[in-house]
This record gives sequence, C-alpha cells and structure tokens, in this order.
Amino acid sequence: MAQRIQGTEDLYGGYMRGWQHIQDTARELFGTYGFDMIETPAIEQVDTFVHGIGESTDVVRKEMFRVFSGALMERLIGAGGEGGLKAKQRMALRPEGTAGVVRAAVEDKLVSQGAAPVKLWYAEAMFRGERPQKGRLRQFHQVGIEWMGAPDPAADAECVIVLMEYFRLLGFDPARLRLRINSMGDATCRPAYREKVRDFIIAHAHELCADCRERADVNPLRAFDCKVDHDREIMAHAPLVTDHLCDTCAAHYAQVKCYLDEAGVAYVEDPTLVRGLDYYTRTVFEVDALDSGVGAIGGGGRYDDLVELEGGRPTPGIGFAVGFERISLALAACGGSLETKPPACVYVACAAPEQRDAVFSTSLALRRAGVRTEADYQGRSLKSQFKQADRLGARLCVVLGADEVASGTATLRDMQTHEQVRLPLAELVATVSQRIS
Ligand code: AMP
Repeated sequence: MAQRIQGTEDLYGGYMRGWQHIQDTARELFGTYGFDMIETPAIEQVDTFVHGIGESTDVVRKEMFRVFSGALMERLIGAGGEGGLKAKQRMALRPEGTAGVVRAAVEDKLVSQGAAPVKLWYAEAMFRGERPQKGRLRQFHQVGIEWMGAPDPAADAECVIVLMEYFRLLGFDPARLRLRINSMGDATCRPAYREKVRDFIIAHAHELCADCRERADVNPLRAFDCKVDHDREIMAHAPLVTDHLCDTCAAHYAQVKCYLDEAGVAYVEDPTLVRGLDYYTRTVFEVDALDSGVGAIGGGGRYDDLVELEGGRPTPGIGFAVGFERISLALAACGGSLETKPPACVYVACAAPEQRDAVFSTSLALRRAGVRTEADYQGRSLKSQFKQADRLGARLCVVLGADEVASGTATLRDMQTHEQVRLPLAELVATVSQRIS
C-alpha cells in the first residue's frame, strides 16, 4: 500500500475543523483591518523565490521542492542537467507565502503608484524539504497577511497588534506568549553592519561550527540563528544591529515601539532576532508560545525592497505568517484545542423498508432548510439506525413508521432524553430547525 509522505498530514474530522476555524477567525479579524483574501498558485517559477527570499537562504538552497513534469524530467535526464531550461520551466512548490503574493501584486498591478495600499491575506499549504520532526513538516499550512504601500511605522505596529489579537481569539493566554521584536535596518545601514558581523565571525571562526563559518560569506546574520548552543553564546557578543541603525531606521523603530506601548502590547526587544529570509528590512517580530516546546508559532516583518526585487516599482511592504500545525500543538500543550465537534445534526430513520421513500423526501426537505441531516443507506434495522444516529452525534431523530406515513405525521425523538413527540409532517422542518439551533 502506498503511504503518506513523511512530514505530511491528512486533515480531516476535528483537525480539519480546526484548520477551518483558523481561517474563519482570520477572515473575520483581518476583514475588520481591511484585508481581502488572495490565493496564489502552489507552484511558482523558481525565480519568484530566488529574487525574493534570496539565493543564499537555507529555504531556497536546501528546502525548496522543485517541480518537473514527467516529460521535462525525461528531457533533463537526456540533456544531463537543467542548464538549458527556460525560467518558466524552472518551477518550485511555494515554501512560504510572501514572495508569491508580492509577485501577484506586481504582475496583476494591485499596487499602482499613488493608489491606496493593498492589504491581502491568505491561508495556504506551504512545502519545505526539511527533516520531519514535531512541529516541523514538509507540507504545513500558514495563514498570513501582506500589506503593500504603507511605509508608516503605524503599519508595523498594527501588523503586530492584529497578530497578537489573532492569537488571543484562537484561545492563547497572552501572558503565555512571548513577542520578540527587532529592527534589521535597511539598505543604508545594513550592509555596513553585515560586514561587522562577517568580521566578527571570521575573528571567531576557530570557535564556531562549519555552518557558521560558511555563513560568514554567504549570509552572516544567519549565524545568530545557529542551533549550536556554544555558537549562540559566542554570537551573543557579536555587534548588535540596534547599535548600528541609521537615524531613519532608529526613528522608525522607536515609533513602532511607541505605538505598541500605546496599544498595551507587551514585547521583548531582541537585537539578535534575524529572520531567515533575505527580504526583511527594519521591523521584524516573532512569537513563541512559552513552555509549549514547538518553537515559533508565527512571525513576520517589513520588506521594503521586495516589491522591487519581484520586478515592481519601489513599494514598501510588511506582513506576517502563522503556522496552523504549530498553533494546534502549542494550544494542546497548554490544555487548549482548536478542534470542535461536528455541527449538530438530525437523523431520519424508518421503521421498515416501506417508509424508505418518506425518509428520502423528509431528508431532502430538512437539508433544503439548511439542517445537517443523516439517514441510513444500508437497510439497517430501526435499532441499529438509532445506534448509528448516536455514533454520528445526532441530537434528534425523526422516526417514520407505517402509522406516521399513513397519518402525515412524524415522531421526533430527542436522542439524549429519549423523549418522543408526534407532530404533523408540515411542522417538522420548522420544529427541527428551531430545536437544532
Ligand atoms: P517562517 O516563514 O519560517 O517564519 O514560518 C512562519 C510560521 O510557519 C512559523 O512560525 C511556524 O509556525 C510555521 N512553520 C514554518 N516552518 C514550518 C514547518 N516546517 N512545519 C510546520 N510549521 C512551520
């Protein structure tokens, strides 16, 4: 039997309802902040991610799943490599949401010059070729927002505020969340800071792991994220970005903090917080659920150069993404859950096969009135129809026997109290609808 790929999950039942709840909450909350939903394709040109996320990032270098059709694969094998492929033939599954949404905003001209900022949100599957472990999957789901055209520090603060509000609505106790913020500077001040970190890594190369030594040239700021404890201790003495911000970045960061203070959002400043993707500028933030053991449950930041990198006019941007599976794990670790029971339903049973047609028409009428309705399709006895109704969690059971059908009535049974009442069939839909709601 073929098996599910390691690091992927089937979503169904209560877990699926959890994913839907996360989307419904997002639709409502993000809607009040003016965000509209977008869905971009799961496959994009490799260039979309290379331009945006950065060639040197782990996500692009090691984790992105590449996509080849069978025919293309055969040609590649014949040609001994993908050197001859056109850009449009080099495809990948999206490892994150921002680059694709920004590509769409540029291609579909969603942010024309001088127009109102574009505010979008998405709920999509993402794919990363990581080593699967708890809270780290190869296919996972993210909900995120992208806000383009708003350079104002109020946008940074509102992004963080809506993120924290989202977590609260999903059932997190704000006291058990830790929000870390930082500023990563911009094109004016970051290059010089990057050099300083590079020099620091080179000066401490003998004490650092091989990955960090490699990072010195490729992506020095990533050394702050090293998983090796000893490396982290050393990097704690590296130059800090907040000491090297230019005046405009420092002022922007200060204003973001003022707004967060005014909104009463608690945060910790972490000058070593550097998010894994190249496109971030200025404000970055990440949220951990304390004691949950699942790592970050969400994060984001400003990306003022990304729209240009994706081929658009210079347009500032900011956004965040949260991971559905991590949120589920983190909530479970503190005794909460996103999972909900199936919605209330009614079961329509018949006493004998002669009433099967009456079950069909009654079920149809109930469903057309919006009532979730189940029935038997396997010729079960009345007793086993009751058992099935119980298994399905039916609140009410409509019983149709010879008497009922002959007299144009139905028996309505409460599945909890087992109380039964006989009522005219004409009143059934209204009575059931009212009792179910
Ligand atoms: P990132 O784009 O890496 O900042 O991820 C944003 C959020 O997505 C994280 O905070 C996690 O909640 C979630 N996430 C990232 N990578 C994975 C993964 N491999 N498996 C499950 N969730 C993930």
